[in-house]
Amino acid sequence: MAISRRKFITALGTASALSLGGAPLLALGASRQVVVIGGGIGGATAARQIRMIDPAIAVTLIEPKQHYHTCFMSNEVLSGRRKLASIRFDYTRLKELGIKVIHDKAANISPDDHKITTNNGTVLSYDRCIFAPGIDFRWDQIEGFDAKTAQLFPHAWQAGQQTATLQAQLREMADGGTVIITAPAGSMRAAHAPYERASQIAHYLKQHKPRSRVLIFDAKTAFPQQALFLQAWQRLFGYGAHNSLIEWHGGTAHRLIKLDATTRTITTAAGELHRGDVLNIIPPQQAGHIAAASGLTDESGWCPVDLRTFESTRHKGIHIIGDACIASPMQKLGSAANSQAKACANAVASLLNGREPAAAVFTDVAYSTIEEAYAFSTVGSYRLAKEGNRFTLVAGGASPIEASTEDLKREAAYARSWFNNLTKDTFG
Ligand SMILES: Cc1cc2nc3c(=O)[nH]c(=O)nc-3n(C[C@H](O)[C@H](O)[C@H](O)COP(=O)(O)OP(=O)(O)OC[C@H]3O[C@@H](n4cnc5c(N)ncnc54)[C@H](O)[C@@H]3O)c2cc1C
Repeated sequence: MAISRRKFITALGTASALSLGGAPLLALGASRQVVVIGGGIGGATAARQIRMIDPAIAVTLIEPKQHYHTCFMSNEVLSGRRKLASIRFDYTRLKELGIKVIHDKAANISPDDHKITTNNGTVLSYDRCIFAPGIDFRWDQIEGFDAKTAQLFPHAWQAGQQTATLQAQLREMADGGTVIITAPAGSMRAAHAPYERASQIAHYLKQHKPRSRVLIFDAKTAFPQQALFLQAWQRLFGYGAHNSLIEWHGGTAHRLIKLDATTRTITTAAGELHRGDVLNIIPPQQAGHIAAASGLTDESGWCPVDLRTFESTRHKGIHIIGDACIASPMQKLGSAANSQAKACANAVASLLNGREPAAAVFTDVAYSTIEEAYAFSTVGSYRLAKEGNRFTLVAGGASPIEASTEDLKREAAYARSWFNNLTKDTFG
């Protein structure tokens, strides 16, 4: 990306101003109902923002889990740098803001009569629904790998129990063992993060099991922040040498097509077999299951939206944000979900108050932390293009390849402070 970071910071300022002051406070009676499905980064941010913009709008949040674990920084749990508890959040502050939190799962949306039914049979009416169910996996793409097998061979692409299982397997593995990470093709959550994960695992192995190695089998021919990762791997893990701690095998031939759970062996599209002691299989992805079940997805498996308001182009009155929606070139990132949630909350509050939604600026940032004092990032700032329903990148960029040791250390500090800010902004 050729756009300067200075321009990006300027755009970020505009975005923050918009998100904080985009709509006046109104108190028109609590008859208007917004129901938010999914209490992750997108949904929790949107619920909170609506209450702050217009306390007269009643907000209900449906989320099955009592605790949410962030995926970002979960790779630092694998290396042992952080505890799982440090990425765990609850809904106390959202409840204190007057948001009604229902710990249940939305089972069905009826867009014609604006009703949602939950697994427990509760029926909720909405004037506007904000829909943020995140991702689900395409279980039909890898022979021998499904939701049940994933409990033994964790993807850890939804954090929490899966992260804990993968961490325990890394701890139990003997020195000299092989960790296999497989990365899918296609649109996915946090496309940079399989390589951050390989780095954090290599960092752990270097300290505790130095005869071990990490093999990445990747359906993609190239990956985000690639030059920065390869440089870090060369510096820290001997990448390219015969005894490198990390090997990357990319391209369609290396796509995972089969898992033999009994022998812990994977088969790639080229027919090669590889046995691993720890297998971290990251499957191909699509929008959260309820999206397709509610007719909100297109043939890509993701949800098309009107980017001015994030309203579904399939069903009026439902606004889709976060990983589930199609908003490229924005990436499927928590920072993107948070930024979209603010714009969407403003749009929904405006529509409920009979006002025209304001234009917004959006941001995303992907941090890769490699070691305690080594991190880099890519940032982007986006606007709706004048000519139509698509975003254009207006500013942004990646950490420079010639960054000094001091710069890399500073980025690691920024990454951790970004984590604290984003989670505070989301969960209060
Ligand atoms: C290893 C890793 C590293 C990452 N690093 C970064 C990073 O550096 N920067 C960054 O910005 N992002 C990062 N991300 C991406 C980020 O975690 C996601 O993009 C973000 O969580 C998406 O937010 P969301 O609200 O769309 O989905 P989620 O946060 O997953 O929330 C979805 C919620 O919906 C709930 N839900 C699902 N179905 C239903 C239903 N039927 N009814 C009710 N609730 C439901 C789920 O329980 C969940 O709580 C990373 C991800 C991974 C895996």
